[in-house]
Amino acid sequence: SCSYLPTFQDPQVIGAGPAGLMSAFALARAGINVQIVDKHSKKVAAGQADGVQPRTTEVFKSYRLSDRLLKEGTQLHVAAFYNCSKSGGIELTDRVPDVTATDTNFPFEVTLHQGAIEDIFLDNMRDMGVEVSRPIIPTSLEVTEALVDDFDAYPVRLNTETKDERRTEIVYAKYVLGADGARSWVRKSMGVVDLIPDTDFPDVRNKCAIHSNNGSCMIIPREDNKIRLYIQLDGKDVIDASGRVDKSKAGPEMILDVACKTLHPFTIKTPESYDWWTIYVIGQRVAERYTVHNRVFIAGDACHTHLPKSGRSRHERGPAASMYDSYNLAWKLVHVLKGIAHPTLLQMYEFERQQYAQDLIDFDKKFSKLFSGKPYSELNLDGVSHVEFLKAFQMFGGFTSGLGVQYTDSMIIDSKHQAQNIFIGRGLPPRPLLRAADCRPIDLHNLLVSDACFKLLVFTGDTHDPAQMARVQEFAKQFSASGSFFAEFSSPDSMHKVFDIVPISSEKKETIMYNALPRILWSHWSKVLVDDIDMRGVTGIRPYGYVAAIAPLDGVSHITSYFTTFMKVC
Ligand code: FAD
Repeated sequence: SCSYLPTFQDPQVIGAGPAGLMSAFALARAGINVQIVDKHSKKVAAGQADGVQPRTTEVFKSYRLSDRLLKEGTQLHVAAFYNCSKSGGIELTDRVPDVTATDTNFPFEVTLHQGAIEDIFLDNMRDMGVEVSRPIIPTSLEVTEALVDDFDAYPVRLNTETKDERRTEIVYAKYVLGADGARSWVRKSMGVVDLIPDTDFPDVRNKCAIHSNNGSCMIIPREDNKIRLYIQLDGKDVIDASGRVDKSKAGPEMILDVACKTLHPFTIKTPESYDWWTIYVIGQRVAERYTVHNRVFIAGDACHTHLPKSGRSRHERGPAASMYDSYNLAWKLVHVLKGIAHPTLLQMYEFERQQYAQDLIDFDKKFSKLFSGKPYSELNLDGVSHVEFLKAFQMFGGFTSGLGVQYTDSMIIDSKHQAQNIFIGRGLPPRPLLRAADCRPIDLHNLLVSDACFKLLVFTGDTHDPAQMARVQEFAKQFSASGSFFAEFSSPDSMHKVFDIVPISSEKKETIMYNALPRILWSHWSKVLVDDIDMRGVTGIRPYGYVAAIAPLDGVSHITSYFTTFMKVC
């Protein structure tokens, strides 16, 4: 083996699964020089994570990636529930919308195999000149504590080895993100198989949760006429003494066999071949720490895994929760690396994502108990009834769709002022609006691109009313006055890279003159909007979509104090 001169890297990402790729993509998109390595020489070809929930589709849209996701994936609109029938076997009990949340432009789930989701990132990263370096494995990682507070230092030292050539390299990094997946802890396992079914089961193109006296099974329709079957296995049957899955003890036939017993009297014929199958072991845990000195972070399955058995949990949220960690960290890293924010901002990553992971696990515990519990019957009065199961399915709908995720008050979430129908700490629902200059309909979400800027939605009220226009002019004056957040934290060449201002007037489209609004409030004619609801005040959306704070039009000082807690003076 031979060593080369050390390289210096701003952020270094380890692991090119959904979490690692999301972060590398988001950082590269924001112009950060990022490097990403993976220990495998090839990415996954089939199977593994597959469920993309509405909020994740919105995130893909905010990066202009959703067209490809929707083109390649399968949409799930309905969830069907099958339970024991009196005559033996199972029967249809209910069909309900798969996603109960309505405050989204994508009220459905998308299924697409992990390799195809990764390709969307990889192809777009390649266009920006970023490729995954493989097969590379870090052999050691050290943080020099004396340097962690020095912004210009590279305090993390990584030794890496190129597996094929046994070549070693030293990398000094400002930040390292470990997105290297889960390690097995707990003896619970899930059998998963993807196949093109030949079946008489009528709900095969809907998502199904099936409870029978022979066990529980979940069906997820997928791209290219395939379906995925999930069944719960008894760990001791398939896990060897070292805790690894012994694939010689199980195979796709065995998984299909268990599924067929659950589906009785319906049948699925044994196919000639299976597209992909796995048995995977997973724990239910949240890492105690998500960071070391806010210089090394972990994301995705590396910091949380959950039980795979709940009817709507694992398949939707393993990949989603993983990508979301990276998405949450990326804008903070971008702001710190670009010198816009103090490094203390990075503390908010662990604060927000660890709480979310804990909520996820609490949810999993409750839901998986219901999913795998024995069905209710006259002989089993303690069993789980369909009504009980459906209630939980719908109640947790907001959480599982990703739309109900709520960050609590912190340095970057401030709920002092409130406004109707806007939830601080949550994503903003879509809203149809008009562009003032050309009356073209536009959805508010089209403006919420993931470009690492804070969006300031300035609801001006009816600007046709001279008194209200005078208030807006006064706001604009305060806004740009010396000492205001806008003057302090953005310079003329950076102002629209830090803050993206979107005035929304409730003046009628017939009378509004877009250019009558104070010039400082609009960076481009296409960003002056008209809404038919008369709202007044400023809603701050932090980079990547969550409502950060609200202030009245005479509350510029409140906005300034919000940004002063973590932004650097220009
Ligand atoms: P991963 O996707 O695990 O990615 C981690 C990456 O890091 C990998 O590319 C790996 O090669 C790389 N890596 C690991 N260690 C190192 C290292 N030391 N150095 C460099 N690189 C490293 N989810 C579902 O929803 N449905 C399923 O049916 C399903 N089946 C699964 C089957 C298996 C066998 C596995 C392993 C996972 C499965 N999952 C499934 C889980 C799902 O894949 C994860 O929730 C999701 O991929 C998490 O994304 P991640 O980026 O955090 O981790």
